[in-house]
Amino acid sequence: MGFCIFNNVAVAARHAIEVHGLERVAIIDFDVHHGNGTEDIFENDEHVLMASIFQHPFYPYSGTDNPAPNMFNVPLAAGSGSREFRAAVSKTWLPALEEFRPQMVFFSAGFDAHAEDDIPSPSATPTVASSRSSRAATPWARSAAAPCSTSAYLPA
Ligand SMILES: [Zn+2]
Repeated sequence: MGFCIFNNVAVAARHAIEVHGLERVAIIDFDVHHGNGTEDIFENDEHVLMASIFQHPFYPYSGTDNPAPNMFNVPLAAGSGSREFRAAVSKTWLPALEEFRPQMVFFSAGFDAHAEDDIPSPSATPTVASSRSSRAATPWARSAAAPCSTSAYLPA
């Protein structure tokens, strides 16, 4: 599942739970592709809440078919912009995070939703994605937020 050889966010989240004894960690994924690998690893895991926003329909064409209760997936149509991203964060992610009260938040910060990335259709800009996601992570994990770059295909 997924594109990566190592899912750095999943490794870090599992480490936080098993080695450091955290009981509630959140993973916020704003890569333009659905985080199917991360979802596969953590679905139905009571220690993990995953909030994912992704273009749909789009590769890997997953994330919309009865996600597990700890998965808060928000599929967005191609061409969606910052307004749709903000609405999704406010309506779906914030209430879920507020109830879950994560002790640590990991960001699967894929920047392939950038308008200059030529693989997907443009959606939220990285600035909007990071600032809205960071705001979603506070105040529960103000000092324990871990942004992890996952992907981007911008020309060098
Ligand atoms: Zn991606």
